[in-house]
Amino acid sequence: ASRARPDTPFMGPRTQDTRLWHPFSDMATVRDRELVITRGEDVWLWDEDGNRYLDAFASLWYTNIGHGRSEIADAVAAQMRELEAFTIFFDYANRPALELAELLAELSPMPGSRVMLTPGGGSEAIDTAVKMARRYWFEMGQPDRRHVVSRAHAYHGSNGIGTGIGGIDANRDGWGAALPETSRVGHDSVEALEGEIARVGADRIAAFVCEPVMGAGGVHPPPPGYIEGVAALCRAHDILFVCDSVICGFGRLGTWFGIERWNVEPDVITFAKGVTSGYLPLGGVLFGARVCEPFWSEPGRMVRHGYTFAGHPACCTAALANIAVIDREGLLDRALEIERDLTAVLRPLEDHPAVAEVRSGTGAMAAVELVEEGGAPGLMMRMRAAGVLVRASSPTAVAVCPPLTITREQVDTIGEAFAHSLGA
Ligand code: PLP
Repeated sequence: ASRARPDTPFMGPRTQDTRLWHPFSDMATVRDRELVITRGEDVWLWDEDGNRYLDAFASLWYTNIGHGRSEIADAVAAQMRELEAFTIFFDYANRPALELAELLAELSPMPGSRVMLTPGGGSEAIDTAVKMARRYWFEMGQPDRRHVVSRAHAYHGSNGIGTGIGGIDANRDGWGAALPETSRVGHDSVEALEGEIARVGADRIAAFVCEPVMGAGGVHPPPPGYIEGVAALCRAHDILFVCDSVICGFGRLGTWFGIERWNVEPDVITFAKGVTSGYLPLGGVLFGARVCEPFWSEPGRMVRHGYTFAGHPACCTAALANIAVIDREGLLDRALEIERDLTAVLRPLEDHPAVAEVRSGTGAMAAVELVEEGGAPGLMMRMRAAGVLVRASSPTAVAVCPPLTITREQVDTIGEAFAHSLGA
């Protein structure tokens, strides 16, 4: 049976309370209705009661190669037996970390890149990128360039800086003001950035942070000319262009870092999620040659920043094995087919009276925007009851982001689940 029973436990109360505080969850309602996932294979997941689901969200935008690949487990196990971990702080290194850095630099669209690795994922990558952007200008004798411009609706993780520059205001509830010396501009207008540069003053701006396709904010592909326009503005005003590719990388947009779809060269790229497809946690930041230059050419510029588990050999081994799968199976090209399949299958939903718009066409990700305010969580739960896992990424938008191994037939299944769950 590919469909969950309508009376599966997540739809009704569970008697057992949980001790686990879930991220981004209303625990007063989630506490007694956890859905416990126990097994995964390619695009399929099973819960504790044996119900099967189609993972149309790649767990949380990250299972690019699909679930349950034993070759990754085997590679990690071999590494763990050889050397489970030793620090890469100071002058220590391990082979998997060195190999991964070498490979990422080779794949990078920024010639002469160097990489910092983060153990947890994207939040640490963003905080690292922004700290380094400010530090770069300090080293360049322009310490007043500290301001960071990001975009409305953007999500840049849950650490201090990422929370502070994020464009989803609710994520700062109870936290206080946005980070000092930061501001947000409209997400789809080059003129908005131009106006902000004029207002703040280019000589005070360290960086502009931008997702190629905005993900968690509701899947917003950039309008034609937007990425080229903001990249040119950054170049003209000597502002570092930080590309947050945490979702868009490792095939999601049909390229290694997403940004290659446009003819621009960023200065900094953050990545996480798909770099390991989630087999183990890892993220990082690629710095272009320009940003590396002051730190690599002259002694005395040690950066006092880093995370204990950065460059963990088991996680780096998982990344190397994952990247090998993406390469060997041609998943970058496959993503472009999925991009077309998602558009073909989901766009017709725009004829449904409950649907305001379907956003797709830039990578293997899409969103169905509803007319009804607050309608997305309900639709997500009805989809789950129909056996398809998707995510409400705003009160009105349901996002789709499948593994890059999904077949056309399985994309059809997503479309049918939407049609069924939207109702007559
Ligand atoms: N940046 C972007 C664009 C993201 O989508 C996310 C997570 O969804 C992050 C940063 C934070 O990454 P993580 O949750 O791995 O810390």
